[in-house]
Order: sequence, then structure tokens, then C-alpha cells
Amino acid sequence: MSNQPVQLVIIGGGPAGYTAALYAARAGLHPILYQGPQPGGQLTITGDVENYPGYRNGVMGAVMMEDFQAQAERFGTIIKEGSITKVDFSIYPRLLIVDSGEHVLARSVIIATGASAKWLGLPSEKRFYGKGVSACAVCDGFFFKNETVVVVGGGDTAAQESLYLAKLCKTVHLLVRKGQMRASKIMQERVFKRSNIEIWFHTEVKEVLGQTVVEAIEVIHTLSKKITTIPATGFFVAIGHQPNSLPFFPYMAVDSQGYIQIQPGTTKTNISGIFAAGDVQDAHYRQAVTAAGTGCMAALDAEHFLQNYEDII
Ligand code: NDP
Repeated sequence: MSNQPVQLVIIGGGPAGYTAALYAARAGLHPILYQGPQPGGQLTITGDVENYPGYRNGVMGAVMMEDFQAQAERFGTIIKEGSITKVDFSIYPRLLIVDSGEHVLARSVIIATGASAKWLGLPSEKRFYGKGVSACAVCDGFFFKNETVVVVGGGDTAAQESLYLAKLCKTVHLLVRKGQMRASKIMQERVFKRSNIEIWFHTEVKEVLGQTVVEAIEVIHTLSKKITTIPATGFFVAIGHQPNSLPFFPYMAVDSQGYIQIQPGTTKTNISGIFAAGDVQDAHYRQAVTAAGTGCMAALDAEHFLQNYEDII
């Protein structure tokens, strides 16, 4: 371990982390950014992003994240591979331990670790993971060309996954547990218009069936209790996300779902000099543009903290 603390470590390489890095680097804070297990974050496993301002024709999520990274690097951000698996926020400077075993001391930290896909929690879903079960249509949809697949979820992610799969697959069965979708109007309209997307309202998954790979999905109608078996080779879970806040649990104030709590209107957490940006602290908006916005706020908050840190600690 180097005994020299760095000014700022940014944990996470999604829109929030890279934007924080851009601002912090331009402010001369020489930030080090750890990209985490999925460099580029969730946008690298999505398709076209149509709602990020400035890209008038839309942009592939992965390409957009390459742009974010390059812009942060241009001003001197040091980008490192690896995840922070353990921290000690009880000491100052703060101690961060990377999965490689490297120890880093930091005067300030921005947590921008994002969120990960949720799973239903069925043993059969786990058993068939990678054998027909997926949480990423863009990554795995190709394997189900001209086949029948099932998507579960009623939000924008489920709508987007269904639309993507509908272009490749023969039929997409979309299972929505309530009587309506939660997805935005425009996404719902696109889903309703696709003739090869069949929507099943009031429907939950009972079991993923098959010998060695997915062969069918057993579902139950929650009102009539009727059980149906839908033959399908692919099963895509798109039921939302959970915050990647686990390594910080012993120290951080989090809400009941694990989202890091921040002081309203800021990115300040319950610990001096530790800031949170993006989906790890946002259960509500969860957009690339809002994540980038809070990344900017976190860098400005960190800069202000560092100007005064000896007085505060
Ligand atoms: P959401 O939390 O918005 O939706 C999750 C959906 O999954 C809900 O319909 C929910 O049902 C359903 N669900 C949750 N748990 C279960 C379960 N155990 N069984 C069955 N269904 C379940 O998550 P999303 O990932 O869809 O979206 C997150 C955010 O990202 C949103 O703000 C969204 O607008 C945004 N987004 C925007 C996109 C775009 O603009 N192109 C694309 C993708 C995401 P219920 O409604 O009954 O609670």
C-alpha cells in the first residue's frame, strides 16, 4: 500500500462515475476511477439510447460509454480495472481494498457503483442461467433467432427487451404481473403495436421447465389461478434493479432497499468526504442523464470538501 493518500477515488465506471471523473479531473483533483465488474455500467448491455440529450439520432449504449470514458481520460483521470470489495470508512484518509488485493488511501470518495439486474429468485431460474435464462436481450437475444421467448416484467426495461427480441424471434410472450404495464406511454405503444409480442397481464412465473436447457415456462394467472405452460427456449428477466451498495453497508446509511441515502439536494452521505452519485443512490429516476447530473454534483461536492477537509475532519 502506498502511504500517500490520493485526493479522490471514484468507484464505478458508468455515466455517474465518468462524469464525476470529468469534472474532478478538470478541477485538478487527479481522480482515480475503478471501473468495477462491468466497465461502462448497465448501458453497455442495452441497445440504442434515444433519450440522452445531444445524440440526435440515438447512440449505442456501449459507444456512448466509450465517449464518456475518453472524455474523462482526456483531462487526466486515471482509469483502473478492478472492483472495490472492501472499505474502512472509520479511518481517515479512507481505506479502499481492490479485488486484486491493492490497498488505496483516499481523502475523498465518490461511490457510483450503480445497480444490477434483479432476479425472480426461483431455483429453476438459477439452474438454467446461461442455458436459456438471461437478463440481457442485447447480449443473448441472438441465440434465440426465429425461436419463441418469454420476457417477464412490466417496466421500460421489459418493454425495451421485448421490442429488441421481437425483431429477432418468432414470438415474444411478455408476462406482466399486474393489469397494466409500468413502462412509459411511448414504450407501451411500441410494444402493443408489435404483432409478434403477446402480452399476458395478471401473470406470474411459477417455474422454468426443461431437461438441460429451457424448454417452457409455467405461469399462473393471478386472478383465475389457471396454470399454463408456454413452450419457449429463452427466458428474459427484466424486473428492475438493485443498488450495488453491499461493500459499504457497515458504514453507509442506506434505505430499506439498500440505496445509499444522501442529504437532499447534495450528494453527501452520512460520512464526511464520501459522496454517492447515480443509480446507487437513486431509486426513482435511474436515467443515464440523471446519473451524469449527480456525478457532476458529486465532483463539485468533493472539490468543496477537499478545499476545507482539514477543518472538517
Ligand atoms: P421498473 O422498476 O420501472 O419496473 C420493474 C417491473 O418489473 C415492474 O413492472 C414490476 O411490476 C415488475 N416486477 C418487479 N418484480 C417482479 C417480480 N418478482 N415478478 C414479476 N414482475 C416483477 O424497472 P425497469 O428496469 O423497467 O426501469 C428502471 C428505470 O429505468 C425506469 O425509470 C425506466 O423508465 C428506466 N428505463 C428507461 C428506458 C428508456 O427510456 N429507453 C429503458 C429501460 C429503463 P409492478 O409494476 O407490478 O411493480
